[in-house]
Parts: sequence; C-alpha cells; structure tokens
Amino acid sequence: MDSWIDTTLTPDFSIHNLPFGIFSTIGSLPRPGVAIGDKIVDLQALHKTGCLHHLQIPAETLDQRVLNPLISLGKSTTNQLRLQLQHWLSAHHDNPLRHNAHVLVNRRDAAMHLPVAVGDYTDFYASMDHATNVGKMFRDPDNALLPNWKHLPVGYHGRASSIVVSGTSIHRPYGQVKPPTASAPVFKPSARLDFELEVAMVLGKENPLGQPIDIQHSEDYIFGYVLFNDWSARDIQAWEYVPLGPFLGKNFGSSVSPWIVTTEALSKFKVNGQVQDPPVLPYLKENGNTHYDIELSVYIKPDGGREAQVCRTNLSYMYWSPGQMLAHHTSNGCNLRVGDLLASGTISGPEPHQFGSMLELSWSGSRPIDLGQGIHRHFLEDHDTVTMRGHAVQGTVSLGFGEVTGQILPSLPWRG
Ligand code: CA
Repeated sequence: MDSWIDTTLTPDFSIHNLPFGIFSTIGSLPRPGVAIGDKIVDLQALHKTGCLHHLQIPAETLDQRVLNPLISLGKSTTNQLRLQLQHWLSAHHDNPLRHNAHVLVNRRDAAMHLPVAVGDYTDFYASMDHATNVGKMFRDPDNALLPNWKHLPVGYHGRASSIVVSGTSIHRPYGQVKPPTASAPVFKPSARLDFELEVAMVLGKENPLGQPIDIQHSEDYIFGYVLFNDWSARDIQAWEYVPLGPFLGKNFGSSVSPWIVTTEALSKFKVNGQVQDPPVLPYLKENGNTHYDIELSVYIKPDGGREAQVCRTNLSYMYWSPGQMLAHHTSNGCNLRVGDLLASGTISGPEPHQFGSMLELSWSGSRPIDLGQGIHRHFLEDHDTVTMRGHAVQGTVSLGFGEVTGQILPSLPWRG
C-alpha cells in the first residue's frame, strides 16, 4: 500500500499511520485533522463536502478545538473514518480527496495544539531498568526494587493543567531544595532539571465508576499513543517526595507530541514483553502480544549548538504493558474518561545509552553526558532544547510519532 501523496521524506506520517491531531492555520480556528506526509487532511473541510455522510459523524464534533467529541463517538466510527481516509489516500482513481484539493493543508503552514482536553493524568513507573537504576542511586544498590514493584504497576496521579503541546517552552522552576551538606532547606531555581522519556496512552472510552476494565478488553479503551516528556526537577523531587510521592518537582510542565498514533496503526508492531517473574495476579494476566516494538530516542541541543543524541531505547523494554496499567488503574473501580492520559513512566533499557533520563545518564550527576563539540551536561541548562522521537519499522511498513520538543528558559523573576 502506498499513497499518491509523497511520504518518502516523512516516513513517520506514512499511509500506515494516519494519526489524529488539532491544527490551525492563519486566520482559522483550531480543528481536527489527520496527518499524511507533509499534509493534513482538514476533517472539518472534508465533512463539508458531504463525502463523510455515510459515517454519520455529527458536524459539531469536527467544529471543536479538541478531539474529545470525535473520539467519544467510539472506535467503530473513528476506525471507519481512518480506514476510509486510508483508502482514498492510497487509491489513485477519482475520490473526494483528489477532487477537493482545499481539504489538504500543508503541515508547514499549520500550528499544532494540544490534541485533547486532558481530564486526568496518571504517571506510572513501569520500566524495571529505570526503577532499578533509581533504586540503586537513592536506596540500596543490592536491593533496588521495592517489594511491591513486580506485583503491580506502581503509579501516581499527576496534574493535567500543566500538560502542554510540543514546542512550548518551559521555565526553570523555583522550589524548596535541601543540599546534602546544608542543615536547612533553601528556596531557589532548580539546579537538577531533567527530562523523562515516556509514551502516554490517550483514553478513548470511559468505564463507569465501580466497573473495572477487563485486561482482555483494554485495547477498546485506548484511542492511541503520544510521546510524553515528563520534565522533572530532581532536587525539588528528592526533598519533597517522602512520604506521599512526586509533587512540585513534576507538575511544572509535561510536553506531548501533537499527533495521536492510533492503537490500530500500532497493531503491526506488537511484540511479547519479558517474562514476568513472579507470575502476576489473575486480573493482570494478558493474552497474546502485550508490548510494542517502537524505537525511541532523545536529543539535546545546546543554545547555538548542534543536536546530540543522548538516548536510544525501545518501548518493548517495559516490564508492565499498557493493558496491565489500564487494568490495574481501574481494578478498584476507578473510572477513566475520554481524553485522560496514562503515561508509562521513564522508559529505560538495560544498557547505559538506553537510559531515558539525565538522572540515569549522568548517574545522579556523577558522570558527564557528552554532547560533542566539547560540550557536556549533568542536567539541563537554560536554553537547552530537548527533543524526543519515536519510530517503528516492520519490513516495508513504517510509521512514527513525529517529535515532542521543548526549550528550557531561565526562571521567571520570583513573585512570591
Ligand atoms: Ca514520570
């Protein structure tokens, strides 16, 4: 399958992908679109041509600044819409997309927006390599994992209000920190600012309060996935986290990639996860392939310098699967809603170049990270830009997430 729109220079946005996002052009309001190559299919404009009539998509769901109303129509509708677009974009004969050139917008002319209104955001801790590294650094090198870790996907409730779309700059946060040698805490800009390489699920279906989601049906609830940079201030985090967990060291900003890659597009890239030992409880047992083979990478670009790759890993290294995170989250009856984000937690692999945070790459600031050209980092400096990319290849089929990027700006003047 190939498209009559050239995708050779944009393999992330191949005919196999067709991710959903919210875009705007000069003089027009943000609205839903689907990416293909260097184009966006303007769903609002396409609907106005009347050619989507058979899908029974209400016009008002495409007249919105977020995807929640469209996603809420259910996968029976959004999958049909995606497959219809795939057919029209691959068929060389006459079809509505070939007849209506105005429904194809150049991606370079579009601004991207947060794709969903995020109601709730949950962050997990599902990479064993990451949890082990952090345990070794902060607790016990010989007993790094806490006793619960292999029995349940550990997570916490984050904050949705500070989730921003790729391209949004992040100011270095102020916070209370206690240097190891000091007897009392001080209030100052974070000196240990970090990224966390994560992938987040976007929920596409809600479960009523009190009704857990059966793990075998978890995919029905996951509309798709985005790249997720969970910016973290390690010095604030280290002092505040006991005993209730992450708080102000995390909630000053998290960045998402603008295009939601659907669960259906990713189905070709499913693989088995590692053997879970000890065996999990029955509600976390899952049939079939549970994980995704997606190459992930992180780059740091110093101000005025060149972008340097600092991490290259794979989503398949995760210990806990998306289905297990979803099933565990709702196992007490907690209700999830359309647009909720469930992030994986930092994705690390077993090798040092596969670590998904600077905390691990610099081993808590003890080893410099080489950016080339004589430039080194332990943590992020002002004006550094962090970019994450994700890409999957299976034979001749490839697709990707595009990127999530963000620059660190100096702290705003403190106005307490
Ligand atoms: Ca995180």
